[in-house]
Amino acid sequence: MPIHYLKVSVKIILVTSFLKHMNTVYDVIIIGGGIAGASLAYHLVSQGVKTLLFDRQDQGWATQAGAGIVSPFTASNAIGFGNDSLFHFAVEALEYYPILMKQLDKQSDSSIFANNGLMVVAVTEDELEKFEELKSTICQRFEKRALSTTKELRFLSNDEAQQMFPPLAETKGAIYVSRAAQVDGRLIAQALYEAAEQHDLTVKPVGVEQLIIQNQVVKGVVANGNTFLAQKVAIAGGAWSIEFEKQLGLKIPIEPLRGQIIHLNVTNINTTNKPIISTVSDRYMMSWPDNRLVVGASRESVGFDIHTTVTGVHEVLGEALRVTPGLKDASLREIRVGLRPIAQDQLPILGTAPNIDNLYLATGLGNAGLAAGPYIGKVVAEVILGKNSQSNIDAFNVQRFNS
Ligand SMILES: Cc1cc2nc3c(=O)[nH]c(=O)nc-3n(C[C@H](O)[C@H](O)[C@H](O)COP(=O)(O)OP(=O)(O)OC[C@H]3O[C@@H](n4cnc5c(N)ncnc54)[C@H](O)[C@@H]3O)c2cc1C
Repeated sequence: MPIHYLKVSVKIILVTSFLKHMNTVYDVIIIGGGIAGASLAYHLVSQGVKTLLFDRQDQGWATQAGAGIVSPFTASNAIGFGNDSLFHFAVEALEYYPILMKQLDKQSDSSIFANNGLMVVAVTEDELEKFEELKSTICQRFEKRALSTTKELRFLSNDEAQQMFPPLAETKGAIYVSRAAQVDGRLIAQALYEAAEQHDLTVKPVGVEQLIIQNQVVKGVVANGNTFLAQKVAIAGGAWSIEFEKQLGLKIPIEPLRGQIIHLNVTNINTTNKPIISTVSDRYMMSWPDNRLVVGASRESVGFDIHTTVTGVHEVLGEALRVTPGLKDASLREIRVGLRPIAQDQLPILGTAPNIDNLYLATGLGNAGLAAGPYIGKVVAEVILGKNSQSNIDAFNVQRFNS
């Protein structure tokens, strides 16, 4: 075919596809395709909701980098878990994981989600004070959920701790919590997309520049210069969600918190069914069956800078070797960097917007977004569809910053 005919037909196809989107009014448009957007999309389309998802695929999106600890009973107060609403929501999120895995037909895939528990350790005398504090916080949280500590908690001697995780340094204190799990962020997001695409989710790998708002009602978005219409729009843009603040006239106070996290390859250590190791200062080592040990992570307020740094890598590896000297012969496999979307008060920002109709938020997932993200998608989908939800998310409404 002559080249100019080819050009004409390509133009016709582009114009036709543009007109098709111009004419289509989606039920819901989602902005952002990390764990929050992917889960929201899955929970909408699986109920027959016509959904279009935009994902700009910014480098440093958190879901591809996150460690994936799912452990509300041991999570530190310093990352928001002193708040009871967040704690109870996170427990519901943990309980939802096996249900979701079954729905996705991935219940036996332990490379995505595994329930291996978590061990908190102190390896020096001067960590014992913090260790005791954390121990009592953990016990109180079990009481809050009316769960038996005798069944779910074990205080371990040094020998028992070493047996469970041989690379550990001598422990001065160790507590094992069985009600804790781990998830691979990339794989769970992929599984959600695969399931959503079977229900006709439309995904566009471009950025949304603007919302279309008329008389305080959202009508759609402008993406790549084109208009896309929808009955409802949800913002799930991670650390970038703040871009819509100005247009909405709404405070969405989220900041990126950079995390550098290192994947090691180990051949002399069995990495299957091992508990996550967590230090009293929130550093961790997590094992995956493919000879992989993940150690992390840095916490750096450096804006949207996604570089790996000598200081970050030094800090993460230094702490890993101090707590687990048995890793000294491990080889470096990969360094990942991600930007956690942290709200001013460290709680997620979920649900309706106070001043704009038909606009929803699923953002500010913070330090525990891989743990809560799949459940957040379910609950925000229920809010969008006006359904009763098991969870009350009023405490997470953006109104709290805009009264
Ligand atoms: C090092 C590290 C360790 C972590 N460890 C854990 C952990 O152990 N447990 C845990 O639960 N969580 C952990 N997290 C946190 C977790 O990863 C995040 O909370 C979660 O992934 C956030 O998901 P999200 O979907 O909100 O955002 P993201 O995954 O960042 O996705 C946002 C997406 O929105 C897109 N986007 C933004 N604006 C637009 C726009 N205008 N148009 C189109 N697309 C747009 C971006 O390109 C991006 O793809 C960790 C994070 C890091 C970085």
